[in-house]
Amino acid sequence: MFGRRSTVGRTDEQLALMRAAGLLVAGALSTVAGAVSAGVTTAQLDRLAETFIRDHGGVPSFPGVPGYRHTLCTSVNEEIVHGIPGSRVLQDGDLVSVDCGAIVSGWHGDAAISVFVGGESAARPEDVSLSRATEQSLWAGIAAMRVGGRLYAVGEAIEDSILAAGRADGRDYGIVEDYVGHAIGQEMHLDPQIPNYAVRGKGPLLASGFTGALEPMVTLGDARNRVLDDGWTVVTLDGSRAAHWEHTVVVRDAGVCVLTAADGGAARLSALGVPFAPVST
Ligand code: MG
Ligand code: MG
Repeated sequence: MFGRRSTVGRTDEQLALMRAAGLLVAGALSTVAGAVSAGVTTAQLDRLAETFIRDHGGVPSFPGVPGYRHTLCTSVNEEIVHGIPGSRVLQDGDLVSVDCGAIVSGWHGDAAISVFVGGESAARPEDVSLSRATEQSLWAGIAAMRVGGRLYAVGEAIEDSILAAGRADGRDYGIVEDYVGHAIGQEMHLDPQIPNYAVRGKGPLLASGFTGALEPMVTLGDARNRVLDDGWTVVTLDGSRAAHWEHTVVVRDAGVCVLTAADGGAARLSALGVPFAPVST
């Protein structure tokens, strides 16, 4: 019995609402990605995301975190996560991680992307490799989710993917361990936590209908970090740049659906050989 703890599964009705929330997050992030360019402030991106979510019948979820009032976190260059939108003006070559959450009828979606100001052609090649390695590791974690499997297999798959990418890229990527993924439902952050790296033990069993947010944060240098005096922004100690990718995912007997991907993850899951089980709104 001990060590056989199981996660909670969502019903089809609950998943339909989480898919609706996930689609709002996907749409908001897509809108923001299209607006990222030199001269734009992170506060402008925040307003775009808030408008998109409210215009489509949702509510931004981050203002539900005590002390936070924005729709996005915008983390630029050496900022890893929890950057606060404001007057910062983006410049060509900046690596911007954008994290967004939305609520529909009480149910949450949570996702993050990393994008380059001026596109990849304006970016440092090592930053492009870093972002790709991070996104790829997220999908490796997603591909490791199966009903009856163990939660900590997810972090193991993420870490293996980052290490493999590091070998291929000739880089010693840093894997941030101070911030983790999480179960998600009627609150954004629920237990159990989902480490985005390998840990001892196996973790609870994945129940059919389990919904989790996986969110690897990877650095070009040392992963050690600190929080700025604003109380939120997490930066690398060595000033190296960081990428952050996140999706909210459901695993069921028939397969996986990426609730915060516009296509539910169909294309990438298919490429990975993972059964896709769509959730409709
Ligand atoms: Mg997030
Ligand atoms: Mg999250």
